[in-house]
Amino acid sequence: MDLLDSWRTLPAAQQPEWPDPAQVHGVADQLAKLPPLVFAGECDQLRTRLAAVARGEAFVLQGGDCAETFSGATADDVRNKLKTLLQMSVVLTYAASVPVVKIGRMAGQFAKPRSKPFEVRDGVELPAYRGDMVNGFGFTAEERAPDPGRLLRAYHAAAVTLNLCRAFTQGGYADLRQVHAWNHDFVSTSPAGRRYERLAGEIDRALAFMNAAGADPEEFHRVELYSSHEALLLDYERALTRIDSRSGLPYDVSAHFLWIGERTRQLDGAHVEFMRHIRNPIGVKLGPTTTAEDALALIDKLDPQREPGRLTFVVRMGAGRVRDNLPPLVEKVTASGAQVAWICDPMHGNTFEAPSGYKTRRFDDVLDEVAGFFDVHRALGTHPGGVHIEFTGDDVTECVGGGHEIVEDDLHQRYETACDPRLNRGQALDLAFMVAEMYRTTK
Ligand code: PEP
Ligand code: MN
Repeated sequence: MDLLDSWRTLPAAQQPEWPDPAQVHGVADQLAKLPPLVFAGECDQLRTRLAAVARGEAFVLQGGDCAETFSGATADDVRNKLKTLLQMSVVLTYAASVPVVKIGRMAGQFAKPRSKPFEVRDGVELPAYRGDMVNGFGFTAEERAPDPGRLLRAYHAAAVTLNLCRAFTQGGYADLRQVHAWNHDFVSTSPAGRRYERLAGEIDRALAFMNAAGADPEEFHRVELYSSHEALLLDYERALTRIDSRSGLPYDVSAHFLWIGERTRQLDGAHVEFMRHIRNPIGVKLGPTTTAEDALALIDKLDPQREPGRLTFVVRMGAGRVRDNLPPLVEKVTASGAQVAWICDPMHGNTFEAPSGYKTRRFDDVLDEVAGFFDVHRALGTHPGGVHIEFTGDDVTECVGGGHEIVEDDLHQRYETACDPRLNRGQALDLAFMVAEMYRTTK
């Protein structure tokens, strides 16, 4: 059997119950004929960037929605998210003086693992929402029925999103001389916006100085942005895996970077088996129950050559546990000689339900988990390689705390996420300033 299909005989967690498997095969055949969304050479370039992260020379900023939606694939939504990502990245680059590898949780993040397969409301039980790639958000039997046609819609929504991202980042919008413009609609309304404005002023002066000195580097005019999502639906990922004509090796061309979630990282499961055989840089989420032995076994399976940049561990322990649970992992992985990139997801270990029923996160817990992550790496002399966050470019009220002091009673005002609560633009920018500060004091 083709190695790319060896996963098919293994248990695959979190796959939808498609009503008609034959229909899924038909859709997979169509997907397999569609053009790649990303190129193998771009994936290789990201692998070299992540190798620099593993060596301690760069920092990852990965973020976007918990769940992208088809209706969110608009110019405004994508631009607002990009703008926030660019602002965060400028804060980190300038205030922490570190190269930032920018990876959007964008252009493909359409499928969600769920803790319960069903949702009950007022005595009515329906299949849980699993992302726009599987079923609809609305609580009706029609919407919630898994529909394989959505795999094709996901491909097209990813394509238009990536097209916009490429246009924005290559076509002048991401030019560093635009640092003020990204903040235009934000500056007067928020403390984070005003703080950013001061930093942008400093950058302007630095640019003017460099210009006067005759330097105008190409890097200032465009941004290298990569796409990523959780590789959850294996039929989709397999259909988008292609053999690179240069090297003869397989790449999953649905995104530059793919990760395995906390719920699908079983060592003998289908996800690990599939990801073993693709050449993209990949990640694995590590939750609070992960043992050092689990981490080492994942390295043996997914990065047997110990190739820097191939494997990133995305740690999501929770603020209360990161300081105790992370050190043995980092210690033993480092002692094994593996060179993984460590990045911190301070979102998924800190979710709780407010009395009103909204799923939320406290901004202070998010910050505290990042601080704990930095503490652990500082103590061990290893590199805190980045952050992975859920945010949106809009002023939603989904996480509590932060500059505008959103309280639990405010959550209803603008709670728009299709899945987990995201940081809004001000909270995301605040986080970037604080992470830059932690980075500076760790080095
Ligand atoms: C997610 O990233 O949205 C997610 C479900 O994370 P995890 O696999 O860490 O629970
Ligand atoms: Mn999430």
